[in-house]
Amino acid sequence: MAWGPRPRRRVGVMGGTFDPVHHGHLVAASEALESFALDEVIFVPTGEQPFKTDRDVTLAEHRYLMTVVATASNPRFTVSRLEIDRPGKTYTIDTLRELKAQMPDTDLYFITGADVLPQILTWKDADELWSLAHFIGVTRPGHELDTSGLPEAGVSLLEVPAMAISSTDCRRRVAAGKPVWYLVPDGVVQYIAKYGLYRRGSAKVDDFSRPRPRMTTRARDERSVKLPPRAVGAGK
Ligand code: ATP
Ligand code: MG
Repeated sequence: MAWGPRPRRRVGVMGGTFDPVHHGHLVAASEALESFALDEVIFVPTGEQPFKTDRDVTLAEHRYLMTVVATASNPRFTVSRLEIDRPGKTYTIDTLRELKAQMPDTDLYFITGADVLPQILTWKDADELWSLAHFIGVTRPGHELDTSGLPEAGVSLLEVPAMAISSTDCRRRVAAGKPVWYLVPDGVVQYIAKYGLYRRGSAKVDDFSRPRPRMTTRARDERSVKLPPRAVGAGK
């Protein structure tokens, strides 16, 4: 075995509201892991939102737990509470600074939808961002993107195949009683059903400690019309 300095660790950071986390996020993280030879991708669910003020965001604890459920099976995916445990607004720059302080010998790769990249120039302390992390902008295959104004050395683009999935669409589907199977991981489908998230008038006010009661076996048996067991509940 050759002796020499240990290679620096390469860690991806995927910030997001994750309301809910979906397969687009997971595929993007997985592709970044592979393409940039990352050792790990840390998902960082947002706490209070600096930009998304147009809608009420689901409780951070729910979004955090859904992200944990979604990433649990991948040994290279982890979830950080850094932003949700911090009171007040958290900016990406603060998160990157803190991660860098915790892991000084690590190169950080911030993974984000490429459509967000031009916005980065307007972020707090934008100039410093480029020194803290390399930015990976994920795009839809075949989609042209204007990266003018962004430092060439600091940004890479990466095509991922599941870009059409969005949390907004998942929330709308649940509210309309449509399935989200295969758009989000199975455990997240079950988590959403357990806490009654995204149903009209439910989401953010729900007490996270109390799951919404599901129909019991007895209540089901007492219904006049009997459905075969696989047709009831949240079956696929
Ligand atoms: P919303 O619809 O509420 O805006 P979203 O689906 O965009 O949600 P976010 O939590 O806002 O999800 O996204 C977190 C990060 O993942 C952002 O950088 C976003 O650009 C990126 N992202 C979102 N959807 C996808 C997708 N389908 N494929 C790859 N990256 C995605
Ligand atoms: Mg978004």
